[in-house]
Amino acid sequence: MERFDCVIIGSGVAGMTSAIYLKRANKKVLILEKEIPGGQITRSSLISNYPGVSSIDGPTLALNIYNQMTENQVDYRYGDVLSIQDGNPYKVVVTEKETFETKTIIIASGRSPRELGLPNEKSLTGHGVSWCAICDGPLYKEKTVAVVGGGSSALEEALYLSSLCSKVYLIHRRDTFKGEASLVEKVNHTKNIECIFNVFVTGLKEKENLLSSICLNDHREIEVSGLFIYIGATPNTHFLKDLNLMMNDGYIVVDKNMKTNIDGIYACGDVIKKEFYQISTAVGEGATAALSIKNICD
Ligand code: NAP
Repeated sequence: MERFDCVIIGSGVAGMTSAIYLKRANKKVLILEKEIPGGQITRSSLISNYPGVSSIDGPTLALNIYNQMTENQVDYRYGDVLSIQDGNPYKVVVTEKETFETKTIIIASGRSPRELGLPNEKSLTGHGVSWCAICDGPLYKEKTVAVVGGGSSALEEALYLSSLCSKVYLIHRRDTFKGEASLVEKVNHTKNIECIFNVFVTGLKEKENLLSSICLNDHREIEVSGLFIYIGATPNTHFLKDLNLMMNDGYIVVDKNMKTNIDGIYACGDVIKKEFYQISTAVGEGATAALSIKNICD
């Protein structure tokens, strides 16, 4: 069985940062990912608050960090982690195909986008329903679309879509947005964005297997070609069931060094319980987890 100093689970910005730091400290590190590198930022069309980069789209930032990781010869592999077993001196990480032994683990599995929970939401995915404006937005050029959500993601993606689409409805279940003030201001000054407050989507209508309109709880029906869902995300922790990890509200609890309640197991990024979910905070946590592990592996 292959043995590592550290196995990192997840290649969002937090996990990739940890990998770069550990590899540069000469540790034998493996990073496992079951989708594409970048995590949640790959759904982001514009990032303007990451220091040193005035404006960049999420997929490009993800690719830049991924390239930096491969330039440092980090061992990056596909792997869907099914379970982790705690042990001393080695812990065991089981994927659907392989099993690894490792002195330490960094859980950087992030979050997955939340769904509205409507009956045909899944079957219409790729047929009008999307969770990624930068991936699918160009398909709706000069068309009418809707974005659901009230956080910074919904605001940013509504702004991005307004540059492509003829009209964007921004649908929020409250009367004020919770996203960044500067984004709210931009949205308010964008002519082809119409905000609809205090409503939620109750149904999706389709014609020939394509989304045709959305129904709201106030009985309105709005014709749209696309619906972009940006209503937050839930932490990916299903593979942690064999561990007695301390959790809060579904998120992993860590100390200031990103250590969990289990020796040798660290966590960082969107999967941990914290106040702020930002790219810059995830990067800082990834570095902190790696440096803490470097100290215990030395
Ligand atoms: P978020 O901040 O958690 O906002 C989710 C929004 O979706 C909330 O307005 C919520 O409404 C709404 N919502 C939740 N479930 C819903 C449902 N079933 N139906 C309708 N609406 C629903 O999520 P996010 O915007 O993805 O942001 C995630 C994190 O990343 C946040 O911490 C955010 O600050 C950060 N972020 C930062 C930036 C930036 O700095 N530029 C950009 C993107 C994201 P309620 O308010 O009623 O709960």
